[in-house]
Amino acid sequence: MQDFHYKGLPVEVYFGLGQSAQVKDILLEQGYQRVLVITTPGQEKAGQELANKLGDISIGVYPHAVMHVPIAIADEAVAYAQLHEVDCCLSLGGGSTIGLAKAIALQTHLPIVAIPTTYAGSEMTAIYGVTDNHHKTTGKNNCVLPKMVIYDPELNLSLPAQVSACSGMNAMAHAIEALYAEDKNPIISLMAIESIQALKSALPIIVKDISNIAARQKASYGAWLAGVCLGSVGMAMHHKICHVLGGTFNLPHAEAHAIILAYSVHYNRHADSEAMDRLAMALAVDSREELGLAIYRLNQFLGIEMALKNIGLPKEGPTKVAQMVGDSPYYNPRDYNYQELKELLEKAYEGLPPA
Ligand code: NAD
Repeated sequence: MQDFHYKGLPVEVYFGLGQSAQVKDILLEQGYQRVLVITTPGQEKAGQELANKLGDISIGVYPHAVMHVPIAIADEAVAYAQLHEVDCCLSLGGGSTIGLAKAIALQTHLPIVAIPTTYAGSEMTAIYGVTDNHHKTTGKNNCVLPKMVIYDPELNLSLPAQVSACSGMNAMAHAIEALYAEDKNPIISLMAIESIQALKSALPIIVKDISNIAARQKASYGAWLAGVCLGSVGMAMHHKICHVLGGTFNLPHAEAHAIILAYSVHYNRHADSEAMDRLAMALAVDSREELGLAIYRLNQFLGIEMALKNIGLPKEGPTKVAQMVGDSPYYNPRDYNYQELKELLEKAYEGLPPA
């Protein structure tokens, strides 16, 4: 066994059906008196209902979160929070909403309480991202790590089947890359395997019946574990590819992660044999050779769009992405091979199986 360093995330987590009902008590216990509820425009109504429940400690809803946190939106939100003397940002939503709360926290050091409603995992990380003129900058700062996270799987019931499937595969990508991270450790690997198994069993049920509450619980559990993985160890080539797809080509985040995962796992299949053997067991496949294909088939079963060309990647995309990944690579358990990566991305562009 290799040496390791482990540091737990200082986040308090409440998990369970109906847990969001106790949010006011949780906020009062912390002494917060001027809470700003943050949502996307699409979740404004849910945000308003939440603000109503908070009563006198709510200063209203700020429904302006959008994907990838454009700098202008972040600056307006910071000014709004300062003007209204907010003392806590309560994020109700997915990664975009938490992203806006993090952008506020980065400049103001205001605490965040998060109620996640997708499976993206941002609520468990100190990673922030801001986009300026089509260029996304990410960084790490403990001041953006939410103080408390409330997982209430009932709130995921309204998440459409396709969004659920892609978001769940986005979570699975965090867990898979944690298995072969440069700074991997035994605790996070255990969480990663548990996360992969939970997501693999829950997502096929959710796409057939989005109101299956047991599957929703399991998916939220898998997403929490995946978020811990993402927040605790470094990610590898898969996340780099998706960063380029989102940042440079503006591809939708969760969809890009879902598609790429089959190809990035296939690329790395022989790189970290211990990690990949564990992944094969978690995905119930016989050999590492079948790993990418197993994820590809799972995506097919979930009804996920299979081709990058259908979610906005232009024809020259595979070549450019392969180059950009090599220009500033993340750690990866296997060396960068431009030709092989380009060929895999060409398959992903067409939605062809990785092997
Ligand atoms: P999202 O937050 O943009 O949500 C997708 C859509 O679903 C939105 O329109 C939203 O309003 C809607 N929605 C969310 N929950 C819903 C629900 N329960 N019912 C109905 N509709 C609902 O998407 P996402 O994939 O969660 O987040 C993507 C963003 O998060 C990206 O910008 C990505 O970079 C970021 N992210 C950051 C981290 C991090 O650690 N910093 C981790 C993962 C993702």
